[in-house]
Amino acid sequence: MLQVKNLEVVYNDVIQVLKGVSLDVPTGSIVALLGANGAGKTTLLRALSGLLETHDGQITKGEIHLDGKPIHRRKAPAIVAAGMSQVLEGRRVFTEFTVEENLRVGGHTRAKGRTEAINEVYDLFPILADRKRSTAGYLSGGEQQMLAMGRALVARPSFLLLDEPSLGLAPRIVQQIRDIVVQINQRGTTVLLVEQNATMALSIAERGYVMENGKIVMDKPAAEMLDDDDIRDFYLGRGDGATSYSNLKHYKRRKRWLS
Ligand code: ATP
Repeated sequence: MLQVKNLEVVYNDVIQVLKGVSLDVPTGSIVALLGANGAGKTTLLRALSGLLETHDGQITKGEIHLDGKPIHRRKAPAIVAAGMSQVLEGRRVFTEFTVEENLRVGGHTRAKGRTEAINEVYDLFPILADRKRSTAGYLSGGEQQMLAMGRALVARPSFLLLDEPSLGLAPRIVQQIRDIVVQINQRGTTVLLVEQNATMALSIAERGYVMENGKIVMDKPAAEMLDDDDIRDFYLGRGDGATSYSNLKHYKRRKRWLS
């Protein structure tokens, strides 16, 4: 179980981005975190995986517990060792390296069983097995996303943080990524899925959280969220020009009052 309690994060000592975020991800589940650009989703993931420091950010308040153990003061390698890996936004792969070399780098923290772990990745993504000697830079966007996910999986995490895996991909590929996330979860990995594609994320998640301006503004079962007209309107781009989910709610309320 991942528990985030009242987390606050500040960049460069002054810019407060997370303003008291609390969130639970039960072991074995998929939880979706939705939010528009700039809401603070990536910042939350950086805090979870110990990567804030490299961005001049720090946790100024709150706690993060993974399976009951505090991890908010740990550095990134210790967090990976505790079983949590992150797939960064923008499918960062080493473009000059081959697919296999990328996977070997992903497994640098676990020399033992690395080949076996890489074979498990090939089993999950047969296309990567076919392309193992190809240079990563020549892969399609979808394949690079799979490689980025594969790299994180080589560490055999019990907990996977996925930052917008569907970003910029064609609908057919998004569907594939979605199915793979389900498979990863069925193999025993808990998933926190950050997405702007609300329909995709909520269709496989148990629970959804909506973040806005560094705060959680909604938290409920994914099925209920999928039925929520406001969520659908805003995240499917039918937000009547509203610039945020909360604005949309106010806008609609005003419209109801005025009509
Ligand atoms: P996106 O989907 O665009 O990545 P997000 O919800 O993931 O959005 P963040 O990337 O966490 O949002 O950004 C939240 C806010 O924090 C933004 O206003 C952003 O400009 C600011 N921010 C992010 N990184 C830094 C940094 N290193 N220094 C200062 N401000 C930052």
